[in-house]
Amino acid sequence: MQRLNVDPKKIDTILVTHHHSDHSNSALRASKKWGCNLISNAETARRLEWEGTARLKIFSELERIDAGVDISLLTVPVPHDDAENVAVIACDSNGKRAAVVTDLGEVTAELISHLKNCNHISIEANYDHDRLMRGGYPDSLKRRVSGRGGHLSNYQTAKALQEIVHPELHSIVLCHLSESNNLPHIAESEVLMGICDSFDGSLSISKQEGPDFSNWIGQSNPERIVA
Ligand SMILES: [Zn+2]
Ligand SMILES: [Zn+2]
Repeated sequence: MQRLNVDPKKIDTILVTHHHSDHSNSALRASKKWGCNLISNAETARRLEWEGTARLKIFSELERIDAGVDISLLTVPVPHDDAENVAVIACDSNGKRAAVVTDLGEVTAELISHLKNCNHISIEANYDHDRLMRGGYPDSLKRRVSGRGGHLSNYQTAKALQEIVHPELHSIVLCHLSESNNLPHIAESEVLMGICDSFDGSLSISKQEGPDFSNWIGQSNPERIVA
């Protein structure tokens, strides 16, 4: 946040999409420290044992949530193992929409229809299918990651974006890349192959240590390509 020049004390709301620790750790502590609202669905609050928390608000599926002076949020359920996960679409007072979509094994028709209205989309490209299958994960974990409740592969993300791309989609950020089963330039090239004929906005990668948004294709520094 410091690098993005965001003062945490100005945050109105923290929305937690699901209870997995990479999405919920520190959220309660941060909401207390910064004095902002904490919102999640009922199942996520239950799994995190947040019931009774003063600043907690519970949302329902496809409910429009006021999250600040001129931002409303819409959550769309997505399939993810053992969690009631949601994708989030933020809408400002001018009707501009931005989506954050991670931790889903499959893109649903409902999600696609919502993403077709978005001007900015941050979506996971979690793994390269060959790398996952040839890598060191146990077979059961390979099946879980690649199953309906796992994560989106680069190929699945490329296919979904092919359906979604429209003239008012200005930027795409690929996020939640697996450190074991993916590389930024592989994710970027697979997605570019899928959408280069129809998309002329910006495509960038958010690495795990974020918040850098970098273009990897065309980089002349080979060290960076293999990093
Ligand atoms: Zn998760
Ligand atoms: Zn995750």
